[in-house]
Amino acid sequence: MRDFASELEQRKQAGLYRTRRLISGRQQPVLISGGKPLLSFCSNDYLGLASHPLNIETLRSALAENGIGGASSHLICGHNEAHHRLEERLAAFTRRSSALFFSTGYMANLGVISALAGRGDTIFSDQLNHASIIDGCSLSRARVCRYAHGDVASLEGMLSETEGHKLVVTDGVFSMDGDVAPLRDLARVCRDHGALLVVDDAHGFGVLGPQGRGCLAELGLSEEDVPVLVGTLGKAAGTSGAFVAGPAMLMDYLVQKARTYIYTTAMPPALALATCTSLDLIEHGDELRAHLQSLVNRFRQEASAMGYDLMPSRTPVQPIMIGSNTRALALSHGLEEFGLLVTAIRPPTVPEGEARLRVTLSAAHSHDDLDSLLQALLDCRHLLKT
Ligand SMILES: *Cc1c(COP(=O)(O)O)cnc(C)c1O
Repeated sequence: MRDFASELEQRKQAGLYRTRRLISGRQQPVLISGGKPLLSFCSNDYLGLASHPLNIETLRSALAENGIGGASSHLICGHNEAHHRLEERLAAFTRRSSALFFSTGYMANLGVISALAGRGDTIFSDQLNHASIIDGCSLSRARVCRYAHGDVASLEGMLSETEGHKLVVTDGVFSMDGDVAPLRDLARVCRDHGALLVVDDAHGFGVLGPQGRGCLAELGLSEEDVPVLVGTLGKAAGTSGAFVAGPAMLMDYLVQKARTYIYTTAMPPALALATCTSLDLIEHGDELRAHLQSLVNRFRQEASAMGYDLMPSRTPVQPIMIGSNTRALALSHGLEEFGLLVTAIRPPTVPEGEARLRVTLSAAHSHDDLDSLLQALLDCRHLLKT
């Protein structure tokens, strides 16, 4: 048998060992860990909807009506009116013809990519795409070409040399860097070279664009420009699940072919209804988004003035680049002594030598909360000089 125990030991030595922090209670902005409160800057609950009284109330009454479990897959007897209502609401919200509700973003990417490309086809994937996209590419058995992060010119070169069915897939907002993909240029080269473009807007949905309709709506890119949009509902929407939206014919194709849609139990119907309430809150959430943006702008200005190395991001994902794994952990521990929770992100989640602290801001934070973070960052600056 393989020596699993010594592999674990090696990980510990390399500063790569992962542990799960036990928390209790709600996520935002203060969570309880080991009995003590920590002001968290690492959840993806960008609008503070994970504990909003209105979607909680919808969930409570929907549970009374529908019970808890989905009990069956969508193609047997699990496709509830509640799921259907959410899918129609998601299609309308994203200005697309049709939408499908998946159990998680991970499952949506696996299912969509492996259904829309297969043996003999070619998938072009941004080098910094999310792990669920990478795994979807492997599962598809298509040939996979990774292109340099955001490099549309090199992608175009690769597309022009490739025959057959081509699929291009990218994060909309990159999950560990916070930058936005060059979507308009990607749409153009995909149209010019007959490639199908898939955009995963896990971090832009609810946050970017008019009424939070996402990174494509922000640029006015329609379903004709970008046929397949994936979004997740566990981040800004504050509930759980994910969706794919696009032309009705493609959604119909996915119902036939996406194995992670077909061979799994439908989500609890009540959760779908709670998510409909989240969509109402997102749609009317301009004040939340304006507050969030003011936190992002202040964080960037003040943290970089202290000498911290930030990334070119205008989104609530605001990594502080550190480089070494151990130094990233030291800064994270230092901040925790001040009652702040900002986790260190290390390889393989990010490339080797690019460990960072991934600060995420939420509309649930106050400017006083941000003051606490900035003061602690000032007090911890010495931890980076060794
Ligand atoms: C979080 C995330 C996912 C996975 O979504 P879950 O619903 O959490 O499984 C997919 N893609 C990106 C870019 C993400 O950041």
